[in-house]
Amino acid sequence: MRVTWSGTELTFRLDPEDEITGRAADDHPVKLATNSCSIGGVPDDAHPDLFAVAAWTIVAPWTRRRITFDRAVSAEVAAALHDGWGIEAGPVGAEPRRAGDRLALSYSGGADSVAAAAIHPSAPFVHFRRVPHPRVPNRWPHYRSDVLAKLAERTGRELTTVTSDLEFTLAEPRPGYPEHHAVAAGALLLADRMNLGGLGFGYELGSRWLGGDRYLLRFTPDNPMWAPHGAWGRLFAAAGVHIVLPVGGVSEAVTMRLALNSELKDQVRWCLRGTDGPCRTCGKCLYKELIQAAVERRPLDTPLTADRPVARKWLRPPPFGGQEMVEYGLARIPGVERSLFAKALDHFEATEESTSWLDHCYPPAIEEIPEPWRAEAAAFLTSQVGLMTEAEVRRVETWGA
Ligand SMILES: [Zn+2]
Repeated sequence: MRVTWSGTELTFRLDPEDEITGRAADDHPVKLATNSCSIGGVPDDAHPDLFAVAAWTIVAPWTRRRITFDRAVSAEVAAALHDGWGIEAGPVGAEPRRAGDRLALSYSGGADSVAAAAIHPSAPFVHFRRVPHPRVPNRWPHYRSDVLAKLAERTGRELTTVTSDLEFTLAEPRPGYPEHHAVAAGALLLADRMNLGGLGFGYELGSRWLGGDRYLLRFTPDNPMWAPHGAWGRLFAAAGVHIVLPVGGVSEAVTMRLALNSELKDQVRWCLRGTDGPCRTCGKCLYKELIQAAVERRPLDTPLTADRPVARKWLRPPPFGGQEMVEYGLARIPGVERSLFAKALDHFEATEESTSWLDHCYPPAIEEIPEPWRAEAAAFLTSQVGLMTEAEVRRVETWGA
């Protein structure tokens, strides 16, 4: 793979051994659509390691053996690429970038990132906004990135909106981040200007510890995407931008509760379709409604019925991603036996007691928050959430076993 930045426009050329259908770190197959993209709202004079890591978040799935950058990178970043992926990276010759002092949050506006924002109230936001690609037709006009960007502006936080068409480098399964970390491509290029030493993501307990974003179903202390000692964690650290997961120890029930109690509650939005509010009919709206109804201890409020395809996904026998939250909802929603989730009751014997671990924080998640930001997160999570007991910790560590 050969990558070239012209200003903040990235072009990449595959080497003979590279393939147009690759695999992301979560093992999901991704097919290449086009070999260029651009990033707006960011400076063009960042440290070469920041350009290198930003490019890697986009081209990693298609790169087999080596990557050639258009400017020298540090030996540290080259080593992280070699150790993490077995990739020969060069040329090498830059001084490493020193970590800055500040933490920024990669802010989507969903409940998880609003919860992360509540934990770090002075952290600035970097919001990724999808824009059309000049050479790829947009068959997904229902995706309302403009609505999410406006909501981010209304939070009153220090905000930088990054615009990018990088999701259109993906032909299949659909436009999206080639790697989950590509959401950070703009934040990486901003790291010098913003003096960043850490970047916070809204990945919660399920994504960090219970299966690496839904494609596995087991306890994942060595999650290659989000563990500090995983391939991505070490690569970001080598560029002086540590991955920080403020809500990595808590479930989506907790992030929902924190978001709905937050001063940003009026700006929370997880649905990418609705304009005046969530659409209420997509799979994500249904899943979040299940969690919200459980947190608010009220009956399910949805126009969907059990025969709809988006509902069927949650009614099949386990295992499946997000299963822990389905169990949590079944145990807490009044009248769930008369709702569209009735059939799911056949597969679980969930009780409030058997799911109470999902109301507390998994302590090792606090330990892996980098030192400059750990005390702030620990104080919040201890006082506002509470730590798991040893028995609850065992529920995490035997997940899927
Ligand atoms: Zn929706």
